[in-house]
Amino acid sequence: SKREGFATVPDTTWEDVGALDDVREELELMIVEPIKDPERFRNLGLPPSDGVLLWGPPGCGKTLLAKAVAAESKANFISVKGPELFNKYVGESERAVRQVFMRARSSVPCVIFFDEVDALLAQRNEQSEASARVVNTILTELDGLSDRDGIYLIAATNRLDMIDEAMLRAGRFARLLYVGPPKPEERVKIMRALMKKTPHNLQLAEFARRDDKDGCKNFSGADLRALLHNAARHCLRNQRRELELVDFEEAAKTMVPSIRDLQRYEE
Ligand code: ATP
Repeated sequence: SKREGFATVPDTTWEDVGALDDVREELELMIVEPIKDPERFRNLGLPPSDGVLLWGPPGCGKTLLAKAVAAESKANFISVKGPELFNKYVGESERAVRQVFMRARSSVPCVIFFDEVDALLAQRNEQSEASARVVNTILTELDGLSDRDGIYLIAATNRLDMIDEAMLRAGRFARLLYVGPPKPEERVKIMRALMKKTPHNLQLAEFARRDDKDGCKNFSGADLRALLHNAARHCLRNQRRELELVDFEEAAKTMVPSIRDLQRYEE
């Protein structure tokens, strides 16, 4: 988006997130609560939280969670995409990284979200010099955050195996949280969250439970959103004003689920 790299407060809330209860709880404790009530954590002798690394297949809610964390704690949110930082001229990437941390420091409390971080942090020895310099700049910024007060880090990746070991050490992105593909009943919860702004026939969210090939087998959250949009288009084409089951059935038939090769993500 246009606001890439700048601080904003997102308008996503926990209500927009379906399922993922365990990850939510962990993020509450790691980030939301410390921002809302820092005294309570300091009194128990807890240091500022380590960075969190969300990992798992695409389209299952990592970005959504990061935005909700910022919004729920009324913190600023800065989103940076790995590949965008990386595709800059020599020296530009490092400057961009430093600028992100500078902006964060001047807008605490702030959540910095590093998306597609694998592009950035790929095993340094296998990568170009440029990659090594970007990683080093990030590590320097992270280690230099002695007054880390008010800056919280969330990174996201589809490829845990590509992440630089140095990034995972204590104080960096030490906390790994798996954001997995939804089970059938979780798909229903996600569909309900997606339909909350058009709740005329919320019962239809049950369609997401169908686990056959004409249903929603292997659908990610992003697939469910696309299904809902396709169903709405089908509804419009048929001159109706409200969604019916047939809209979901017809829409699902035309869709290919995006969750494949799950072995890669098995915990
Ligand atoms: P990627 O790895 O491709 O960046 P991601 O895990 O960050 O994917 P999101 O961008 O959060 O996925 O999800 C894309 C969209 O799919 C969301 O904006 C939302 O509309 C929908 N979605 C995904 N997961 C959920 C969920 N658990 N609850 C509600 N909506 C979801």
